[in-house]
Amino acid sequence: MAMGPRAQRTREMLATAGLAAVLASACSSAPTARGLAQDAVIAMGGVEQLRGVQTLVMSGGSGTRNRLGQTVRVSDPDGTAQLSNVIEAIDLANGRAALDYQIENAGFMQHRQEVLTKKDGKLVGLENVAGRPLAVMSPSGLFSWGSQNSPEFLLRRNVIVVALAAATSAPEQPAQDKPFNGRTLRAATATLPSGETATVFFEPESKLLAGYEVLDTESMLGDVTAQYILSDYKPVAGLTLPHKITIRKGGQPYSEVQFSAASVNDPAAQDILAIPASANADVDTAIAEGEYSPIALTKVADGVYFARAYSHNSMVVEFPTFLAVVEAAYTDAQSHTLARALELQFPGKPIRYAAVTHHHYDHTGGVRTLASYGATILVERGHEPEMRMVLETPHTNPADPLETKRKAGQAVGSIEVFEGKKVVSEGSQSLELYAITGNPHVDPKVIAYVPTGRVLFQSDIFFPGTGAPASPDAVHLLTSVRDLKLRVATNVGGHGGVGPFAELEKAVAGRK
Ligand SMILES: [Zn+2]
Repeated sequence: MAMGPRAQRTREMLATAGLAAVLASACSSAPTARGLAQDAVIAMGGVEQLRGVQTLVMSGGSGTRNRLGQTVRVSDPDGTAQLSNVIEAIDLANGRAALDYQIENAGFMQHRQEVLTKKDGKLVGLENVAGRPLAVMSPSGLFSWGSQNSPEFLLRRNVIVVALAAATSAPEQPAQDKPFNGRTLRAATATLPSGETATVFFEPESKLLAGYEVLDTESMLGDVTAQYILSDYKPVAGLTLPHKITIRKGGQPYSEVQFSAASVNDPAAQDILAIPASANADVDTAIAEGEYSPIALTKVADGVYFARAYSHNSMVVEFPTFLAVVEAAYTDAQSHTLARALELQFPGKPIRYAAVTHHHYDHTGGVRTLASYGATILVERGHEPEMRMVLETPHTNPADPLETKRKAGQAVGSIEVFEGKKVVSEGSQSLELYAITGNPHVDPKVIAYVPTGRVLFQSDIFFPGTGAPASPDAVHLLTSVRDLKLRVATNVGGHGGVGPFAELEKAVAGRK
């Protein structure tokens, strides 16, 4: 193989970095793993060009996303959501990243942006959903339905990062043949800057990366073997970069995005990753708090509290010696924040129970963290398989608090399965959980009732305090509450706010 000036320069830079590259080997008939990785770097534009990438913005993306955790029944096949207007920005120089996309799933549409950014060198998360105020949280509070579970993956799994790491860390030994995405390809083992190990695969003709296999820890799926399949390489500012990225996790489709454009070191990337001036005070709060997501506790009735978050709320029930939380929603950061707020307001009272109302991932994203605080997770039989997966699959890369405490042999909460109805009571206080069946949103669906305060909690079925019309879901809720003969006065929403029960009755009566 004749070496061009860029290839020559790449070899020199990799060699002078103290890497002892066996320069000749990549040109022989049995190249070493490192030689193949170095060839890939050359094919992508050379080490100098790749190291010169500070920001990369992939744009005009469209494709699909799976594993949203939004099925009606736990046993239903996973659906496929459509992604459009996908923009993915990374700042390799400063460790910042953003996902921006429109998602459409079974009639649900949302334009979302999740940004992992920094202030004074400290990481912070911004969630920007069309029609809602900007929310500020710790990085662990970022929740995404884009091509990834969180924008942080964009940094660790980027092709430039992986290619450069492989070119300096793959062994100086003959490359192995391994299966990848239905083909047998030459493979190299690489150590990523994060310390993780990746198996990197090479295209025989173009010498570019065909993709890589790594261990991803998803917030809900836990540890999964993930394949990143790269294709549609195109020239971008002196580089050659993949414009189609297909991700499979745990042997199943996860996301696939075809981008129409890419830009390198474009000043516009800074705007995507910037913190709006109006968010500065919230950013300072989020950084100071550590694991953080905005939450506020207000009293609904004696011993019943509404935990209002910016998107997914919970209800807290106070017993003489402990607390119960209905719905550990959205993210681990939200559960950490709720636990701190409860310790402040009810010092010494542990969160003994956390009830799951349904298996949807946006309403169960905080269960692992509440289990790490020792809460028993109350799960209806119909949600058991999904919740066992979430709570019992190892989460090691990196380890979350539940994984860490389990490994250390510390006491953590576990699942308690009930069927149809469960009552938690102490003294004169009680919390009743009922599984209602046949709701179009999810089946079964657990609703929670506190008889002392005549308070009902439900999520996703009716949005109290918002003036929202009644959907077929809400009609089913009202029928179910009447069938159960619950004397509800106040309706607390997993979305929306708190309202009189008459609001639901009126909305249902007003349906055309
Ligand atoms: Zn739901």
